[in-house]
Amino acid sequence: MTAFDYDLFVIGGGSGGVRSARLAAGMGKKVGIAEEFRFGGTCVIRGCVPKKLYVYASQFHEHFEDAAGFGWTVGETRFDWKALVAAKEAEITRLEGLYRKGLDNAGATILQTRAVLVGPNTVRLTATDELVTAERIVIAVGGHPTPHFDLPGHDLCITSNEAFDLAELPKSILISGGGYIAVEFANIFHGLGVETTLIYRGKQILSRFDQDMRAGLQAAMIAKGIRVICEDIITHVAEGEGGRRTVTTKAGETLVVDQVMLALGRVPNTARLGLETAGVRTNEKGAIVVDDYSRTNVPGIFALGDVTDRVQLTPVAIHEAMCFIETEFRGNPVSPDLDLIATAVFSQPEIGTVGLSEEEAAKKFDDLEVYRAEFRPMKATLSGRQEKTIMKLIVNAGDRKVVGAHILGHEAGEMAQLLGVSLKAGVTKDDFDRTMAVHPTATEELVTMYQPSYRVRSGQRV
Ligand SMILES: Cc1cc2nc3c(=O)[nH]c(=O)nc-3n(C[C@H](O)[C@H](O)[C@H](O)COP(=O)(O)OP(=O)(O)OC[C@H]3O[C@@H](n4cnc5c(N)ncnc54)[C@H](O)[C@@H]3O)c2cc1C
Repeated sequence: MTAFDYDLFVIGGGSGGVRSARLAAGMGKKVGIAEEFRFGGTCVIRGCVPKKLYVYASQFHEHFEDAAGFGWTVGETRFDWKALVAAKEAEITRLEGLYRKGLDNAGATILQTRAVLVGPNTVRLTATDELVTAERIVIAVGGHPTPHFDLPGHDLCITSNEAFDLAELPKSILISGGGYIAVEFANIFHGLGVETTLIYRGKQILSRFDQDMRAGLQAAMIAKGIRVICEDIITHVAEGEGGRRTVTTKAGETLVVDQVMLALGRVPNTARLGLETAGVRTNEKGAIVVDDYSRTNVPGIFALGDVTDRVQLTPVAIHEAMCFIETEFRGNPVSPDLDLIATAVFSQPEIGTVGLSEEEAAKKFDDLEVYRAEFRPMKATLSGRQEKTIMKLIVNAGDRKVVGAHILGHEAGEMAQLLGVSLKAGVTKDDFDRTMAVHPTATEELVTMYQPSYRVRSGQRV
């Protein structure tokens, strides 16, 4: 018999929290889980899922245009933003229901409330002011978009949270940021017919990605008609005529747009969570500091997912939750494996990537072989669309291991998943060479690049 109300109490009903609670409850543990907003968390309610649905919506106008090259005549088309928002809402509500049902079926107690720590084993449920105790507490509260309080007029701007549910589709939008969320939304809004500008302080979008992917995508976005302003930032936003926004940039440009969206990173949801009271340590970004087993400095308190500032992705939060359960409830210590995470940018075209960029690999290995192909995808031959697919393998010449694989092109995210399996298994370039191609596909290029395009020795391209 435990002296606590719960064996496990989870704060936050997102990707990591729900998985922790469901697995522990399924093992017969007494579990409580508190969510202050909607079960499913960022991913289901205002992240990956609605984002991908909007990506699909935004691709249709190119499909309609491309159809002509294949003999189709497409009649007059019209886009209804409100219909898309309603359809999205119905789908995320369905998913939210599934999350609740999964918890319920496993036997977890679902609590619709904010929860805060009041001590190492005690949590306060703010909806009822009730105190509950637990042997173990998992903090999986995620993060929220950086509000950029220093920017005059920041309150006139939206973030990704609001972008999904705007009352009207704006005619024009300025998006500030160069990370994957900014880039994806720029492509979504452009695809839906919005005059879109992206402003980013760096030299080129997507700073942590392979150079070829960054350059290729930026060029493709510009060619589509998205205006990309680099090496500049917004310094002031003011309310203009007719509810529009007048934006001033550091370089002195003035833009008048319907909406300004800030996509400048995310902040962990650790404010007013009672961390100081419980003695839980955070870092300079406000993220909870954990060890390899998601343990905080306070025994019995764990943290996982975005709030820990490791890798902010849904599968990572879920994996960390599974490792936590394995370690704490199954007596099998497992630390999350965050090496070689395959990931995608759902831009148009997409980026799919796993492993090291050429720049990172050049710092790590003395002798690299780079295999690179740039070609027009088959569909574009008849559609007439001017676009390029880029595929790239980075190989450590020393042991022939493929240390990075990068694709810019349609369905690159789908391809990255399978490349992830291969790289995780330690695939060599010779394995690629002896693999038969699937013809005709874009991916066959990956197994038919027999000669290196160039080598990088001691950091220098030769
Ligand atoms: C626009 C956007 C697009 C994204 N796209 C992708 C993608 O394509 N692929 C991908 O892998 N990842 C994507 N992500 C990231 C992904 O959504 C997160 O990495 C993931 O949701 C993190 O899960 P989590 O469990 O740590 O936190 P979350 O899912 O954020 O869940 C935390 C939950 O805790 C709740 N909460 C907070 N404080 C409290 C409290 N005190 N009491 C009770 N409840 C509380 C919140 O309401 C929230 O529901 C995207 C994120 C955004 C914003």
